[in-house]
Amino acid sequence: MTNKDLANVIFPNITKTVEDYEKEYPKRNLEEGAKVTRFAPSPTGFMHLGGLFGALIDFTLARESNGIFYLRSEDTDQARSVEGAEKLIMDTLKYYNMMPDEYEFEGKIAGNYGPYVQSERKEIYHAFIKHLIEIGRAYPCFCTTDELSEMRENQEAMKVRTGYHGRFARCSRLSVDEAIEKIKNGEKYVIRFRSNGDFENKFEFDDLRQGKLFLNENDIDEVIMKSETMLPTYHFAHVVDDHLMRTTHVVRGEEWLPSAPKHIQMFEAFGFEAPKYIHTPLIVKKEGESIRKLSKRKDPEATMSFYFENGYPALAVIESLMTIINSNYEEWHTANPDKMFTDFEVTAEKMSTSGALYDLMKLDDISKNIISKMSKEEVYSESYKWAKKYSEKLTKLIESDPEYYKAILNIERQQEKPRKDIAKYSDIENLIWYMYDEEFNNKEIIYEWKNITDINEIRNILKVYMDKYFTLDKENWFNNVKLMCDELGYASNMKEYKKNPDSFKGNVADISTVLRVALTSKSMTPDLCEIMNILGVDKIKERYNKICK
Ligand code: GLU
Repeated sequence: MTNKDLANVIFPNITKTVEDYEKEYPKRNLEEGAKVTRFAPSPTGFMHLGGLFGALIDFTLARESNGIFYLRSEDTDQARSVEGAEKLIMDTLKYYNMMPDEYEFEGKIAGNYGPYVQSERKEIYHAFIKHLIEIGRAYPCFCTTDELSEMRENQEAMKVRTGYHGRFARCSRLSVDEAIEKIKNGEKYVIRFRSNGDFENKFEFDDLRQGKLFLNENDIDEVIMKSETMLPTYHFAHVVDDHLMRTTHVVRGEEWLPSAPKHIQMFEAFGFEAPKYIHTPLIVKKEGESIRKLSKRKDPEATMSFYFENGYPALAVIESLMTIINSNYEEWHTANPDKMFTDFEVTAEKMSTSGALYDLMKLDDISKNIISKMSKEEVYSESYKWAKKYSEKLTKLIESDPEYYKAILNIERQQEKPRKDIAKYSDIENLIWYMYDEEFNNKEIIYEWKNITDINEIRNILKVYMDKYFTLDKENWFNNVKLMCDELGYASNMKEYKKNPDSFKGNVADISTVLRVALTSKSMTPDLCEIMNILGVDKIKERYNKICK
């Protein structure tokens, strides 16, 4: 019996060959230098920041080279696959404006290189495995889990490198006849790749981020097809899919780098050219003085739902990731404020060689800037969309009077130095509640008085203000406050106050604070005159009278 017979016993119904698939999925017809990249998540029901980070690199590399960015669902580990996970992935990509050119979703296939879901590619993998068996580069392995753990223990005791290699690769020595007999007897098996490498040899591996590396050749006969499901392992699916889908650049986490020698060997076994690799750094965060890996368990910001729930604009998250993809992004962005992030040329060589340091404070800064530049209409519609999902209270406030809400959002907007107090849509409620009577009157108000705390003095200031100096006219508003200062013995001019503080009861800032706090309860708010204009005279009087009575 020959290897061909063995291949036919294992895959009797597979008639298509590697050549057939080569013809079916020809080289892509793209312009010189166009990059074909893919985002290949496992549908586990979670989207992690690291996933979006990788996808963003894929997306920008494809966009800036007029290439193709496609989505592939890696669901060969069916125990980890979760219903509905694809929707989460698609929704996330859509939200971040990173729609793939090719994908498979809800029964629709976009693109000619599918199926894009690995469990639907079984026949293809089988044809490729059949080929490897025929040429003697793959074989069935009947070792049980117990036998494998015993082998591992022995290796550890003998202090040899663990794994199915060299003399430990028992089933690699079975004859074709022996293997066929075992299969006919119903023994369970996996398929292993037959490595031809020597661990003592190093070979040159070019990682686009880390440059030339010298890696040990692989000598492990890796499992390429699992027993029960007959689905491929990651290693094999990577080789077949990235070849047939004509990926030019594989962007993946650096935890895959140790497996790269296996992959290179498999590409060689088929006579295929391997894609270029960019192994990306881990995302890390600062904790006190130390730096550690962002943890799915400990850090809420490691999961994309954090950004949805808090209401960060998509662009803010994208830009915060761009700054850790390439450290020169920020400088470029400052010099080109009107360009989109896709105009920036991502370079693998400029990626951090250690971890990519993610910082939420930085995200907040970026986000405040982005929101400050939006129009009131835009903040209105984005925050309303967010509220409908995550905040009943804000939804109610918005719906009670959308125009009133927009007027509040418009305070200190659309000016040279716009307000920058909103980092995320979940901040808004806390910043505007006092503009609503139903909130202000039904809450126990804690007034943040600053320098002037004597309630009689406060009452006096409010009375005089209401009687003589109140105006909603922007031209005169501040001047009136200053005139009142003069009348009440406060310095209307800060310079004079600083020269001679003892000759005044306080200064114009103290007076403004009283007017502000009495109206809003807060010592920090955007422009008070604008606030007064939106609240209107009745509400102002009511709130001041409440304190004076
Ligand atoms: N499914 C793999 C993962 O989620 C993809 C790695 C790759 O991009 O090749 O880690």
